[in-house]
Amino acid sequence: MDSSDNILTSLMVLTYCLIGACLGSFASAIAYRIAHQKSWIVDRDSSGGRQPARSFCPSCHHQLSVLDLIPVLSWVCLGGKCRYCKAKISGRYPLIEMVGAIFMVGLFYAGGGAVSLLAFVITLPFALAFILLLLQRSRPPFYVYGLFFSNIFILLYALIWGSKNV
Ligand SMILES: [Zn+2]
Repeated sequence: MDSSDNILTSLMVLTYCLIGACLGSFASAIAYRIAHQKSWIVDRDSSGGRQPARSFCPSCHHQLSVLDLIPVLSWVCLGGKCRYCKAKISGRYPLIEMVGAIFMVGLFYAGGGAVSLLAFVITLPFALAFILLLLQRSRPPFYVYGLFFSNIFILLYALIWGSKNV
């Protein structure tokens, strides 16, 4: 392996890491909306109007900006507190983002092909949301169970047959 291969591999690992962290962040949003029985598409404001669902602080309900949504980094830079109301933000959020990153890098090294990668990316946020819901003692809906087990299956499949690039 020459140095250009090394750079390419590092860039790929970094990309997988970032995608995994974003999927982890999405998992937190899914778990929150399922646990609070909120719609994924529209939020109701105080006057009962509808607006597109966006991420917000669970404490002060301030809508979060792009800068507040950078996986792991936003949490570290803000010292684990909301930028607007200074309420403590659980370390569970950056943790689940890191777990997402680790799983994606794991899949990269398992050498899964494009199909297993795509299926994995779609099911990973739900698999992580499943774990979050169990930790919060909320009961995950039936389809989240299904996506959790398909995610585990895809990862095992990639780990066992990945080097043959299925
Ligand atoms: Zn807040």
